Amino acid sequence: MKKYRDMTKRGYFYRIFIGFYSLLVGMFTTIKYLLRPAVTLQYPRERWKMPERSRGRIGMVKDPETGESLCNACMICVKNCPAYCIWVLGETVQVPNPEDADKPKKKRVMSDYILDFRLCIFCGNCISVCPQGALCPVPEEYEWAQFDPDDLIFDAEMLMQSAKEPEIKR
Ligand code: SF4
Ligand code: SF4
Repeated sequence: MKKYRDMTKRGYFYRIFIGFYSLLVGMFTTIKYLLRPAVTLQYPRERWKMPERSRGRIGMVKDPETGESLCNACMICVKNCPAYCIWVLGETVQVPNPEDADKPKKKRVMSDYILDFRLCIFCGNCISVCPQGALCPVPEEYEWAQFDPDDLIFDAEMLMQSAKEPEIKR
């Protein structure tokens, strides 16, 4: 209280001087940054390119020869997911045996893969533990908010789609 009284005693002109001084300091800061290149972007017309290792949504890797998923439904990602948001359906199928045409081989394949992005915490465990390299991050896909939360449940086909440029209403 005493300090406040001391300040008020300093008078009318002192307070005008302090007001101008603050104004000048503020204007100096504004002018200093006005002459520098802008670090902001005109979102959504402009976007930063995401870093290569950023964690966007999880995607599935396609076999370059067959176009099918590399997943063999081993369930390792399911067991290592801390959010319990992966469900994998697998089946055993017979495939031709190049060594003996009469004895087809058995092969485990994934018949569907469900990833619930409502629960996913993007820890990347599923990608790290997959022995087939069947999962990958899709760094450029980070704008996928939905009106219906159920649209965040992805199946294998959706996971295999590469990132799309989001539609912008201008
Ligand atoms: S990123 Fe983590 S939480 Fe998300 S599906 Fe993979 S293991 Fe589960
Ligand atoms: S994605 Fe990988 S870890 Fe998960 S079930 Fe398929 S092969 Fe196994």
